[in-house]
Amino acid sequence: MISIKHLSKTFTNPDGTQITVLKDVNCEIEKGEVISIIGPSGTGKSTLLRAINMLEPPTGGEIWVDGENIMAKGYRLDKLRQKMGMVFQNFNLFEHMTVLENIIYAPMRLKKVPEDAARKEAMELLNKVGLAQKADVYPSSLSGGQKQRVAIARSLAMHPEVILFDEPTSALDPTMVGEVLSVIRQLAKEGLTMLIVTHEMRFARDVSSRIFFMKDGIIYEDGSPQQIFENPRRSATKAFVNRIQKLVFEINEDFDFLSSDTEVKRFCIKYNLTSKVDLISYVAGEMLLNHLKDVRPLTVRLTHAELSSETAMDFMVEGAQNSPLPEGDNLDDIRAKVIDIVEEPTSRGFRVKILI
Ligand code: ADP
Ligand code: MG
Repeated sequence: MISIKHLSKTFTNPDGTQITVLKDVNCEIEKGEVISIIGPSGTGKSTLLRAINMLEPPTGGEIWVDGENIMAKGYRLDKLRQKMGMVFQNFNLFEHMTVLENIIYAPMRLKKVPEDAARKEAMELLNKVGLAQKADVYPSSLSGGQKQRVAIARSLAMHPEVILFDEPTSALDPTMVGEVLSVIRQLAKEGLTMLIVTHEMRFARDVSSRIFFMKDGIIYEDGSPQQIFENPRRSATKAFVNRIQKLVFEINEDFDFLSSDTEVKRFCIKYNLTSKVDLISYVAGEMLLNHLKDVRPLTVRLTHAELSSETAMDFMVEGAQNSPLPEGDNLDDIRAKVIDIVEEPTSRGFRVKILI
């Protein structure tokens, strides 16, 4: 359905300097595929999506869609716009139109769909994304997750052959990521062709037929989710997919437990740790307000490997040679609830590591 050959994109800055963001991108995308594009920021993922739908015309190579070269002179871009929808990080809804008006606008203008039919379908789409009751409100009264679901409905209203998603959940509060991902999951089940730039590794693994790992302006490795996440061929891919999320606190005398507890909870929601949130919060509370209450300063580091789902909480005392725990304290209350507790010296001090 889409065939990309030696695609390149060089931006020329106002001062004449140039930056080549896409170097040589090659891929074939079949109808019904769900492809997640992952990779470090600044590697050209957004630029690739914007090149594919000609929002950012490429400077070299070819893009074929349904057998036509869309970069050829004379190719009509409105034809492409009808085939290809795009969902942005920041929703890009029309703020002066109601939710329903947002959805019927393009079908009526570009496809000449009669208003009655456009409204009827818009209501069906709003039902599908769980927002039928919001048809007549303005976007400003919606949460981020709701806005993004409207943006998806708006895109679907054009019956595109493919939808490109550029980090559809990155601008959302962590509590709202799930509702948007579940709508996208549903579309994947229905067989819609999608290209999704995302940082949600587990989502990418679960929903995609193929993964593109982008790095330095090329598709550095592509393969099935199983290959990319469990058995990557290249070391940079492996390092990226196994990277670890971290939350670090410096605990001093004036430490505010409640505000850091809120941050810990947000972290847990963001990285799909909701099943562990109560335990993590309990461990932090017990350690900071009880076992280590007299040990300050202290560094607490919560780490989570998204794919393996390994979570650890480190309590680190800089410069210490021995365990900061009071004599005879074996943390029995905590030990009974967690996977393991390790007390160990490090290059910088001593830590109590609790595997959760
Ligand atoms: P990603 O989405 O992977 O984070 P982007 O595609 O947004 O990466 O950007 C890749 C690089 O291209 C960045 O270094 C960015 O600064 C640069 N870039 C993107 N758009 C423009 C532009 N319009 N003009 C100049 N440089 C740009
Ligand atoms: Mg981007």
